[in-house]
Amino acid sequence: MFRRFKRTRLKAPMRALVRETHLRKDDFIYPLFVIEGEHIKNAIPSMPDVYQMSVDNILKECEELLKLGIYHIILFGLPSHKDSCGSEALSDKGIIAKAIKVIKKHFPQMIVALDLCFCEYTDHGHCGIIDKNLNSVDNDATLEILGQQALVLASCGGDMIAPSAMMDGMVATIRAYLDKGGFTHIPIMSYSTKFASGYYGPFRDVANSAPS
Ligand SMILES: [Zn+2]
Repeated sequence: MFRRFKRTRLKAPMRALVRETHLRKDDFIYPLFVIEGEHIKNAIPSMPDVYQMSVDNILKECEELLKLGIYHIILFGLPSHKDSCGSEALSDKGIIAKAIKVIKKHFPQMIVALDLCFCEYTDHGHCGIIDKNLNSVDNDATLEILGQQALVLASCGGDMIAPSAMMDGMVATIRAYLDKGGFTHIPIMSYSTKFASGYYGPFRDVANSAPS
């Protein structure tokens, strides 16, 4: 014998009755890609309707989002300067640090999550410091700078730290840095589980972070 799932799938009102997963606006986080400069709104051909925007345009976008009832955003930084260890990510004058302060000043009700990784900030496009002998990312050295980056972003007013760097031990390390720095109230949303997905290419385009 087999189960006839079609009985509850045939009609929309029946599906509505048995549906287990409901997606509401509250379940989504809107990604924003912040670039240095003014009056910039760069279209990304591989991601229609997604733009790299300077802070002034990010503010306009936030206003629009709030009108639509969308109040969770996640920021990705596109710095003008990149180097081998992603030092701009550790500066409280970096592009994301600036963006958080301005957004929170104008829209304190917005929940601002911060992508935490180094691939947008390193000239090689990998997610941390490279160990030349290993020819790979130095996991533990990267943990330390992830912790420092989290502290910088939390002290700029960020509401949630969202690490995407795939380093072993990163959530525990970031938690320890945040707690020690007085940010026990800041949640961590790790989202580094990677799947084989056609979205990665376009995402790398918009985040200017294709690895070498
Ligand atoms: Zn990364």
